[in-house]
Amino acid sequence: MSSRKVTITSPGPILSGTVSTVHAKCGRPTCRCYHDRKYLHGPYYRWSGRINGRHTTRTISEEIARECQKRIENYKELQRKIDQTVANALDQAPWMQARNK
Ligand SMILES: [Zn+2]
Repeated sequence: MSSRKVTITSPGPILSGTVSTVHAKCGRPTCRCYHDRKYLHGPYYRWSGRINGRHTTRTISEEIARECQKRIENYKELQRKIDQTVANALDQAPWMQARNK
């Protein structure tokens, strides 16, 4: 039976979770957002995901948000590669190899 190793590589650094933008009110009575119901500050960027099993949110800069987004895309690409490799592995399933002998 074949025992070849399977190697899957990521196109770059990876990151789990999601990046989102938030608009918010600061709550200061002197601020425009206090009087104008539609006025909000932002956008603020944040990363949400799980760290050690706990749902975590981090406020991040726009620059960091872009880097996070890039790494999240890499992670998705890696997941696609894994799914593809797993699907292809069925062609090499143990019962297929037994039949070919
Ligand atoms: Zn405000």
